[in-house]
Amino acid sequence: MQERIYLSPPHMSGNEMKYIQEAFDSNWIAPLGTNVDKFEEEICAYVGMEHGLALSSGTAGIHLALKYFDVGPGDYVFCSDLTFAGSCNPILYQYANPVFIDSEPETWNMSPIALEKAFEWAKKENKMPKAVIIVDLYGQSADYDALLPICEHYGVPVIEDAAEALGASYKGKKCGSFGHIGIFSFNGNKIITTSGGGMIVSNDEEAIKKMRFWATQSREPAKHYEHKEVGYNYRMSNICAGIGRGQLEVLDERIMAKEKIRERYKKEFENLPLSLMPISTGNASNYWLSVIKLNNNSSTMIDDIIGELESNNIESRHTWKPMSLQPIFNECLTFTHYYEKSFGNELFLYGVCLPSGSNLSLKMQDMIITKIKGLFK
Ligand SMILES: *Cc1c(COP(=O)(O)O)cnc(C)c1O
Repeated sequence: MQERIYLSPPHMSGNEMKYIQEAFDSNWIAPLGTNVDKFEEEICAYVGMEHGLALSSGTAGIHLALKYFDVGPGDYVFCSDLTFAGSCNPILYQYANPVFIDSEPETWNMSPIALEKAFEWAKKENKMPKAVIIVDLYGQSADYDALLPICEHYGVPVIEDAAEALGASYKGKKCGSFGHIGIFSFNGNKIITTSGGGMIVSNDEEAIKKMRFWATQSREPAKHYEHKEVGYNYRMSNICAGIGRGQLEVLDERIMAKEKIRERYKKEFENLPLSLMPISTGNASNYWLSVIKLNNNSSTMIDDIIGELESNNIESRHTWKPMSLQPIFNECLTFTHYYEKSFGNELFLYGVCLPSGSNLSLKMQDMIITKIKGLFK
């Protein structure tokens, strides 16, 4: 059997070892160090933000951002429903209540209609959220021209979960720069990786300072160890940051490679009863994952596709299962795009993520395409 094909495996540039070697040569095998400082600067310059904070994960970034907005027991936080649990688990770390917001059909991201409904409820019930977490799904920006004015109108800050969307942009502005605080992930499956890690970006220097303090165990400035607040061990290691620096050098190349893969799937599947995740005008995706959605009349189902690919040692996945359908979150309120009908649930029932690695060879693409087409004969 041929080697396993993964959804989005790591793809090294070859320059990572240079930065790791520098860390070894200076013996900065530690959290913090030159690579960490430089990686923060380089990501900020790329995204067009002033301040960065490199962390052990994207989830840690969301946790710190929630803490910065003073989210605590009994508070409410709005969050995209169709996402990975890393977006909203930190709401529970703070003993607050998530309220989930459905997707819209143009980009599959947070629906402005559903968001407005949620705010109307919150106003009526006197349960205004402390923050709104907006996810940029599968590498495509949410519709910020529609979403941000709603949040501004109600005076609630935005945390942009751009974990999947480094390098993508919306109307010429890079993802990660739309909220008061933006978050990236460098987990192994993301468009670039540090093996594991994350970053917060913001133009608010005070916010970054405060989160940096919490992320390093809240050590007060003193000669001895002095603590007045709870802290976390959330910093990125100097070795991991070295990997990140080597990866960032090839990010734009990775995006181009992934775009080609999406174009190929799109062309090859033209006559099948399915469509690719749409990309709306004004959006430049990073094409992190190519996702297909079967038409409701398709007799081939997603489990047929996933099973067929798996039997050929090819990984594919359902789209995210909406958070409101997860047992741990099923008591949480959800606001839908349509009247009493979740669009995200439909995406979960009919959507499949296909292998989209920037190192996916033409031969591998051929095989995936042939197997899928075969199911519709
Ligand atoms: C990967 C991911 C996260 C979590 O990032 P980690 O670095 O794995 O903690 C959060 N939100 C979304 C949307 C993600 O895809």
